[in-house]
Amino acid sequence: MNIIVCIKQVPASSNVKIDPVTGVLIRDGRNTKMNPYDLYALETALKIKDMNNATVKTITMGPPPASQVLHEALWMGCDEGTIISDRKFGGADVVATSYTIGQGIKTLGDYDLIICGKQTTDGDTAQVGPEMADVLGIPHVCYVDKIIEVKEKSIVVRVNLDKTYEEVEVQYPCLITVDKGIYTPRLPSYKRSVAFKDYQVNMITFADVKDQDEAHYGLKGSPTQVEKMFNPDRNDNKVVLKGDANSLAKQLFDVLKDNKYLGE
Ligand SMILES: Cc1cc2nc3c(=O)[nH]c(=O)nc-3n(C[C@H](O)[C@H](O)[C@H](O)COP(=O)(O)OP(=O)(O)OC[C@H]3O[C@@H](n4cnc5c(N)ncnc54)[C@H](O)[C@@H]3O)c2cc1C
Repeated sequence: MNIIVCIKQVPASSNVKIDPVTGVLIRDGRNTKMNPYDLYALETALKIKDMNNATVKTITMGPPPASQVLHEALWMGCDEGTIISDRKFGGADVVATSYTIGQGIKTLGDYDLIICGKQTTDGDTAQVGPEMADVLGIPHVCYVDKIIEVKEKSIVVRVNLDKTYEEVEVQYPCLITVDKGIYTPRLPSYKRSVAFKDYQVNMITFADVKDQDEAHYGLKGSPTQVEKMFNPDRNDNKVVLKGDANSLAKQLFDVLKDNKYLGE
């Protein structure tokens, strides 16, 4: 069984730098970490590998320093890591990102299961998984919080729909996005970090993808236009509400309504 896990390097702090001219996030590999949700995606793949005869490949799209997350994944137990990186891929919005990772996965060859995290802690859209499945023309299931059974030709999963659960069986090749808490991520192994000391990750650039139309990648392939990106002002104003329970509830309702958190 061939499993691909998509992992993203994200800023480790909420104090991120924005390019004043282009308005995009400056990702330089410093003060970064693996997207926390992707640890659950990795652990899910590794649990399946522990139970079945599976190969786990990881893929990330980003500037070269983002390959650090691929090494961490190897230390946890994955078999291979690939970074998709090219200046032509820079400035990609969700549509272009999903398309580019999809092209990268096609370049990697056959797979049965793709596992993504539910969302990232920076972009936070939770759209890359399902959009990538669309690019690849495969079925997908989002918000998976339990693997019920791994069969030869399909996987049975539980989906967390907030107020209820749904059990879904989906044929390979397919994509799932997993929620936190599905399994407890294992720690990287020191022994593996030594064994993979000289490992070179695979690199996929524009020259390697089948679709050579530059208009499908990076800024050119991004229908979203960012007008402005900025860190929100910190507001430490505090208001202490006083009164009995009914009066507090009314005051709180008014504050939420006045600040447009609630409608009429
Ligand atoms: C107009 C525009 C320009 C942008 N320009 C840039 C830019 O110049 N540089 C830049 O870095 N970002 C840029 N972004 C942000 C970029 O589009 C998002 O980082 C990307 O689409 C992923 O979205 P997300 O973080 O919401 O992922 P989600 O959809 O929340 O992620 C879900 C899951 O998908 C997988 N995944 C997501 N992203 C990746 C990845 N890169 N590699 C592997 N797996 C992944 C992971 O498994 C993750 O858990 C731009 C966004 C817009 C709208």
